[in-house]
Amino acid sequence: MENKKLRDLAEVGEFGLIDILTQDFQLKNNNSILGVGDDAAEIRLNETESLLVSTDCLVEGIHFNLMYMPLKFLGYKAVSVNVSDICAMNGRAEQITVSLAVSSRFPIEALEELYEGIHMACEHFKVDLVGGDTTSSLSGLMITITVVGRADKNKITYRAGAKENDLIVVSGDLGASYLGLQVLEREKEVFKANPEIQPQLDGFDYLVGKQLKPEARVDIVSYLEKLGVIPTSMIDISDGLASELMHICKASDCSVSIYSEKLPLDDLTSTTALDFNLDPITCALNGGEDYELLFTVNQSDFDKVVSNPNLTIIGHVTSKDSGNFIIDKNGSAVSLKAQGWRHF
Ligand code: ADP
Ligand code: MG
Repeated sequence: MENKKLRDLAEVGEFGLIDILTQDFQLKNNNSILGVGDDAAEIRLNETESLLVSTDCLVEGIHFNLMYMPLKFLGYKAVSVNVSDICAMNGRAEQITVSLAVSSRFPIEALEELYEGIHMACEHFKVDLVGGDTTSSLSGLMITITVVGRADKNKITYRAGAKENDLIVVSGDLGASYLGLQVLEREKEVFKANPEIQPQLDGFDYLVGKQLKPEARVDIVSYLEKLGVIPTSMIDISDGLASELMHICKASDCSVSIYSEKLPLDDLTSTTALDFNLDPITCALNGGEDYELLFTVNQSDFDKVVSNPNLTIIGHVTSKDSGNFIIDKNGSAVSLKAQGWRHF
């Protein structure tokens, strides 16, 4: 290390770092079907089914702030974001393990509250808590959840698989969680300046709810099954629509064109964005933590998808060399760039 020029994490970013660290690993076992690079790993179970495995780590001060994130919600959210990664593979979550690193400043009651939220999520998503690990940390709380799921091997959806002319679809609406976070941050600053003033969250329930208690879209996975639609590719939106579209393009060797006026935005998201002097479209593109599903379908599935109020067609897949564009209502195309969340 002494003679080498040391590289800064910020130079490569989160995804660059993952590539650097994992590039020399080859899968050795026949049943390891898919390793690093998708929402979950795939392990073949038998002739017809695969296991799906995914893990996510939430760190105090990075992913959550306990000034406004009640521990019960944190527990629920930690499970939900893991279940979301199994949904992104078109699978069903079945088991979780929960690992905690916790500083002594947390009383037992606080951790019980965290587990109340985990319990609520286990009931809601019908998953079993089957283990974990508990250790101390010098400061703060870190919670790591691993989820195991299952899927019919012919129905698993990868980030790879999108084909030219496929339709691009998102569930629910976008940007709400990011604006929920802006509202919570604003009220935190007001409270810090004057602890007598109570936070004003009235009227922002939907946005704050999306931020504090996101719901993995298990309903969409069931719905697609009922419709008989298997997406050609799928990912969940944790880092922002633009960033997730880039993952699909990279994995599927394609480009995308999306239409700004098609992006599903709740009215409250749009009005709140304007209150914060933010462009609602930018919030929909780059705001994180929506935990909606982003997927592509063959054009022949248009009729099935278009009739569902929970699904919106936002654009289509183009050939690799076409470039990625967002097209506004006047037809002008602007190059689509992923901002997303930067960890480093
Ligand atoms: P998601 O946003 O869906 O949770 P991530 O962006 O966290 O996915 O991770 C992308 C891929 O890289 C996943 O397949 C994940 O398992 C893998 N990955 C992330 N960090 C590491 C790591 N430190 N070592 C090995 N694989 C990793
Ligand atoms: Mg994911």
